[in-house]
Amino acid sequence: MRYQNDLYKSTNPPQDEINNRSKHLFIAIVCALLIIISYIFFAAKPEQTKQENIALTIPDLATKIESTGQDESLITEIDTTDSGLIITASVDTPTHSMQSLSTIWHEHKVKSGESLSIIFTENQLDTTDLHKIIHANDISSKFATIQPGKSLLIGHDISGNFSHLIYKKSPYEELKATRLEDGEFKVELLEKELDRRINSASGIIHSSLFLDGQNAGLSNNIIMQLANIFAWDIDFALNLHEGDRFSVIYEKLYIDNTFIGPGKILAAEFINRGKSITAVRYQPPEGAASYYTSGGDSMRKAFLRTPIDFARISSHFNLKRKHPVLNRIRAHKGVDYAARTGTPIKSAGDGKITYRGRKGGYGRVVIVQHGQKYSTLYAHMSKFRKGQRVGSRVNQGQVIGYVGKSGLATGAHLHYEFRVNGVHRNPLTVTLPNANPIQAKYKADFLEKSKILLSQLAELTPTNFAATDTPSE
Ligand SMILES: [Zn+2]
Repeated sequence: MRYQNDLYKSTNPPQDEINNRSKHLFIAIVCALLIIISYIFFAAKPEQTKQENIALTIPDLATKIESTGQDESLITEIDTTDSGLIITASVDTPTHSMQSLSTIWHEHKVKSGESLSIIFTENQLDTTDLHKIIHANDISSKFATIQPGKSLLIGHDISGNFSHLIYKKSPYEELKATRLEDGEFKVELLEKELDRRINSASGIIHSSLFLDGQNAGLSNNIIMQLANIFAWDIDFALNLHEGDRFSVIYEKLYIDNTFIGPGKILAAEFINRGKSITAVRYQPPEGAASYYTSGGDSMRKAFLRTPIDFARISSHFNLKRKHPVLNRIRAHKGVDYAARTGTPIKSAGDGKITYRGRKGGYGRVVIVQHGQKYSTLYAHMSKFRKGQRVGSRVNQGQVIGYVGKSGLATGAHLHYEFRVNGVHRNPLTVTLPNANPIQAKYKADFLEKSKILLSQLAELTPTNFAATDTPSE
């Protein structure tokens, strides 16, 4: 806001002119008056308005001008008095705007460990009002879920009575409590419309997905999404090739023309060593959105190859291995991943927990059954994930426990087994089935929606080539 800057600048004279402070203050007031008068001249709508007097200080004035601008309320007169400035404002719609115009707001940033009752006490607010707000209606209990780092706006009316509480849940959602005439509160969830703008980018790999993605104008968030979508098909650390190409169609989220963050990738193509892989996002009428090939097959496999991050293989699948603790030949029917105690272990696929407890040399172990054919086993855990039990449904990637050395183990590691129809298979080499394709009933809808995105993708690649010099090998 220009008003605000001008006001603050003029009320803060440079150090070497500190003696002229009062002179500057006078100039500041004149400037403020000029700005406000010009505002009135350009924006005044004198008919169908009502007037109200409010006393304000100069910094408050700046904020107030901003808020009145938003409320289409207009300041028509200013007077300097001993107690400060008296502003006369004309309000277009008296019932709504006058209320917000006459509210003095104080912003409170929620700190870690703070509850609403602590905040109420800290701000000398009556906890009876808090009780009224929390119990106002079905949604008002959401006030209890305030998170550190987010803002609460506390509003007082002109007589100093607590009148409003706003919790800024996200850039596009706020929870607002307004005191009614009977002293009770009305609570509502105000949602701003999210504007999803479609963007596209394409690039050529010269060094890494991150650097070349950034050069193509992609944010780190979008680059991460891109890497995740193609994670099953491309090893971005080892298998990228100079001259590989990518094209992406993605959303950028705006509210009131202000960029608030990246949205989702809608479609992407990656050409790895001359082989094109295409992915399209689809949200079925029920269930979660996912990425599919142009033919409607899932971009992901039904199982993660490795159910743990930040680990190295310490022992391979080997049916004739000499056991390190027992010191005799005993088949090693899984893969061992050495990792720090406490590293999360993820379920390799969607399924149901069929065993969770201690089991001899396995120590703390979880077995997950995936449909009729597949099961996976995770051993030597230090502890299980809270809130799960035998019979719990788990999704692919969901944490089920933590690395440890329970049972027969020389150090902290995960022992991971993969069984197909009850037979142990090498988790590193077994052919992993694809995750479920688009349901037959949604296939036509998917094909129709993806057609537009795919044709847009196809148009992206050539312009990229025309614009870029690709050295011939
Ligand atoms: Zn093992």
